[in-house]
Amino acid sequence: MNPPLLELRGVARIYQTGDEPFRALDDVDLRIDAGEMVAIIGPSGSGKSTLMNILGCLDHASAGEYLIAGQVTSDLESQDLARMRRTHFGFIFQRYHLLPHLDAVQNSEIPAIYAGLKKSERKARAIRLLARLGLGDRLGHRPGQLSGGQQQRVSISRALMNGGQVILADEPTGALDSKSGEEMLALLGELHQQGQTIILVTHDPEVAAHAGRIIEMRDGRIIRDQRRQPSGRVAAGRAIGDEAADGSRLGAALGRSSEAFRMAWFAMSSHRLRTLLTMLGIIIGITAVVCVVALGQGAQQKIVDDINAMGTNVITIAPGQGWGDTRAATIHTLVPSDLDALKAQGYIDSVTPSLTTSKLLRYRNITASASITGVSEGYFRVRGLDIDRGGFFTAAEVRQLAQVVVIDPNTAAKLFSAAEDPVGKVVLLGGLPCRVVGVTKEKDSPFGNNQNLNVWLPYTSAMGRLIGQPYFNSITVRVAEGFDNEQAEKNITELLIRRHGGADFYTSSSDTILKTVNETTTTMTLLIASIAVISLIVGGIGVMNIMLVSVTERTHEIGIRMAVGARQGDIMQQFLIEAVLVCLLGGACGILLSYAVGWVFPLFVSSIRMKFSLLSIVSAVICSTLIGVVFGFLPARNAARLDPVDALARD
Ligand code: ADP
Ligand code: MG
Repeated sequence: MNPPLLELRGVARIYQTGDEPFRALDDVDLRIDAGEMVAIIGPSGSGKSTLMNILGCLDHASAGEYLIAGQVTSDLESQDLARMRRTHFGFIFQRYHLLPHLDAVQNSEIPAIYAGLKKSERKARAIRLLARLGLGDRLGHRPGQLSGGQQQRVSISRALMNGGQVILADEPTGALDSKSGEEMLALLGELHQQGQTIILVTHDPEVAAHAGRIIEMRDGRIIRDQRRQPSGRVAAGRAIGDEAADGSRLGAALGRSSEAFRMAWFAMSSHRLRTLLTMLGIIIGITAVVCVVALGQGAQQKIVDDINAMGTNVITIAPGQGWGDTRAATIHTLVPSDLDALKAQGYIDSVTPSLTTSKLLRYRNITASASITGVSEGYFRVRGLDIDRGGFFTAAEVRQLAQVVVIDPNTAAKLFSAAEDPVGKVVLLGGLPCRVVGVTKEKDSPFGNNQNLNVWLPYTSAMGRLIGQPYFNSITVRVAEGFDNEQAEKNITELLIRRHGGADFYTSSSDTILKTVNETTTTMTLLIASIAVISLIVGGIGVMNIMLVSVTERTHEIGIRMAVGARQGDIMQQFLIEAVLVCLLGGACGILLSYAVGWVFPLFVSSIRMKFSLLSIVSAVICSTLIGVVFGFLPARNAARLDPVDALARD
């Protein structure tokens, strides 16, 4: 003989409220066969709803065993219980428990979504069921636009969506007027005729009279179990297991995801302001990070370009061990004979020493402080300076300690009027009268065009007549075209070590400067960006906060979804998607805002351009997704772990 469809063996349900455990159900034995129509009656508080919840796998028995078609349920996981609810049971509640923002069709569809039915199929089925229940002209109405009786019929359609072999109706007529109540019972009767197993809770004996079997409860116990007809309908009833299993796995998962996505989108758009404020943290964080990185890369690019413009084949030799060596000032070994030795090397295109001082510059009644550099005729070529007017001084003039100077455009503008030609005029460098022989062209310097006045005179004159120092501050070499820069640097170092008897100098080529600049700016950018990341984290916490609120607000909805068969994973997915969606949208806004900043920025700052890299955009997107997942996880898990009965009870 087949096992009964539903069987309770010594089932108890104990609530732990206050000090005393309370037995809402006590030692209940019950067998219900397929195709029966059972009415459960009893006074309020006698445990009817508790019994229904256990029968419908919404709740666990505290003691005893519950078997469905002979299968013990106590060791089923929440996953399997959800599957039971989804595939075999259909709940009808006293207060309908429809989702207020979905229309009749969408409400009916929910169990089929979680069962993985194809969209077109489930829609067609929902429409067919609703039409059969007399709601063909109310398909697009939301619960608020339907009468109580109509809402209850929508909930029947929802209960039948996945087959619903066992319909569990907990006081289905309780909230209805007597006419709608009668229609409701007629409908349940009809379903019973078609083979559905129906379990109906009521406190109304007249309602109970519709059923073939009446079970009476009091204080958590069954006190009467009366069969008014022989249970001859068993054969007609459908046993659990007939129904096809859930739809195809991949398609089903996709369908559920798209539903979760739709729900998340709905939740966001129904609280627009709140969503926007939540996103603000993410927007600001992403904008900060993307802009800082873009600025850093722009600055770096600018410096690199400038250094490249100076020529990559220039090597500078200076005393000391490296930049900022404090003993460098006491090392006086870079002397004119080094210069001659370097000039003799085949791989060197041109070479210039430099010694620098600062002196007052005077022409007629105008006085200005200028930076005076003693150089050789090769300097202008090494530095890539072009002449605007006049010419550079010559090798002969250098040899003769000639009192001639080349000035830069700043100096020309400072000392001479626009109409005056500086070439040929005599200016005073400190006390030394010098004739201006040339004016250089404007040249971008690496760190913006400064306002310094630069004056160059032959290094021999500077050493002999102006400063009186027999050594150079540095020597700069331009390596011959086609010769390897690194090799040249090595050769020069060897040559000078031989001459000086030791390494009391260091060389730096624009290559090494480039490397240093790259390293420093990258470090700086990373540092500032990591500070900006803090605002991202703060934004993430904001998302978590709002998601927790959202879960609390929608506890009832979660309960309904679980009652009709949503898995924990489905609930989790819905809230995670919402969190990720908020963060992704925030991220997208942040990226747009960054571009807006990048567009406005050049209007205020001309020397640096922001350089947006694809990498920073991609990492911004990945970042916002991660933030959504990380900070959405806790609220989503809270939602998924809700107890369906508790969640349903809350409003
Ligand atoms: P009925 O549906 O027959 O009116 P219920 O099954 O809802 O009764 O409740 C049976 C008893 O269990 C009641 O006394 C109720 O107070 C108690 N009860 C129900 N749910 C809980 C709960 N979550 N915690 C504590 N007691 C509960
Ligand atoms: Mg009840």
